[in-house]
Amino acid sequence: MTGGLQAELDASLDEAERAAVALAREWAQVAVAPQAEVWEAERRFAREAFDSAAEAGLTGLTAPGADGGRALGPVALTRVMEEIAAVDLGVAFSLAVHNNLVGAVARRAGYELREQYLDDLVAGRRLGAFLLTEPGVGSDAAAITTTARREPDGGWVLDGAKAWVSNGAEASVLSVYATTEAGGGHRAVAAFLVDADTPGVERVTAYPLIGAHSLGTAEFLFENCRVGPEALFVPAGQGFRAAMEGIDLARVLVGAMCCGMLDAGLGVARHYVSGRHAFGQALSGFQAVQFSLADVATDLDASRLLTYRAAQLLAAGDGSAAVAAAHAKKFATRAAERGLAACMQVMGAAGARRHHCLPRHLTGARLTHYLDGATEILDVVIARSLFPPPPSAP
Ligand SMILES: Cc1cc2nc3c(=O)[nH]c(=O)nc-3n(C[C@H](O)[C@H](O)[C@H](O)COP(=O)(O)OP(=O)(O)OC[C@H]3O[C@@H](n4cnc5c(N)ncnc54)[C@H](O)[C@@H]3O)c2cc1C
Repeated sequence: MTGGLQAELDASLDEAERAAVALAREWAQVAVAPQAEVWEAERRFAREAFDSAAEAGLTGLTAPGADGGRALGPVALTRVMEEIAAVDLGVAFSLAVHNNLVGAVARRAGYELREQYLDDLVAGRRLGAFLLTEPGVGSDAAAITTTARREPDGGWVLDGAKAWVSNGAEASVLSVYATTEAGGGHRAVAAFLVDADTPGVERVTAYPLIGAHSLGTAEFLFENCRVGPEALFVPAGQGFRAAMEGIDLARVLVGAMCCGMLDAGLGVARHYVSGRHAFGQALSGFQAVQFSLADVATDLDASRLLTYRAAQLLAAGDGSAAVAAAHAKKFATRAAERGLAACMQVMGAAGARRHHCLPRHLTGARLTHYLDGATEILDVVIARSLFPPPPSAP
């Protein structure tokens, strides 16, 4: 049973981590569920959710205790994101992006940047965003064209455009990836922490999408944007690796979000078909309906097994998680989209109404195919493990 897998995993967490999972579950029900359809209908970033998450202590999940954070490991984070996404994918992904930046600043930032940003990010007084993708560059991230030019005084000038920035609608701390040498590939990629109100930074209105508007995806333009030497977050040569450093965890978290959405959808469908009657019996009495939801339950179990295993491999930290994370995200995203459509189908036209989570989760599930690497890029990772490149000649 699916609930059994969650309980088994939760039993492996320590007390503080279990408390964080319970907090996330309760917080999502109280602070997110009543508003989720409103954010979607108004097509806007869920600012209230972020502010409330800050109050609840969900904005410093990845920072060490000494920095005021909860220091959650990959397994606990996986469960937290599963619980929040069961209510709303956009809010879960927004918090995942913010917390990913919190962890990176706590791990990597030098004294000045830590002093400037870490406390505010952990406390949720400021919202973070990750700016790698550009209007012309997505999967081939080493080919980014936003430039960082060094000034004689040691400062930098940023020029270029960034696209698909989650939290972009309101973020005030931008982690900007740029190349220090046009055409220099991954070796020239550096990262900068930039205040969104720096002269030369322009925020472009959030995109209308098929769904998940609560994550506030927007664009940014950088034109002759001057920042001091201290804004250099990760130097060229290490920037690309830094961008990819958290990618396996991010993929596992998207897998977990899909598990949460699918579990919620299955719950809605089971409830509906048990109460709705046709041809003299409850819909749940028809074997076709039972089998359709049985397939969803199988896919949900399989998604959880792959996702939880990848989270455990990440926690073990032996570097073997990349392929497991790719399998987990690929399977869980497909299972969620397919399974949520099946849940809607057994409900007839009622499945398409917006007074339950199914339409919102279905459009969210479609978008998960692109988050943190498109499905085909996951296949590149998996295929490489099947056909490793021959060792280079001595
Ligand atoms: C809702 C949402 C939020 C996002 N948030 C952020 C964010 O906060 N920060 C950020 O930096 N980015 C963000 N992204 C961008 C996301 O990371 C990119 O969409 C993703 O990397 C894919 O890039 P692309 O969409 O430009 O597709 P492209 O790279 O243009 O690819 C188009 C298609 O070609 C396929 N393809 C590309 N290369 C290969 C290959 N080698 N082999 C086989 N197929 C290939 C892709 O899989 C895809 O199907 C977000 C995207 C979405 C949808």
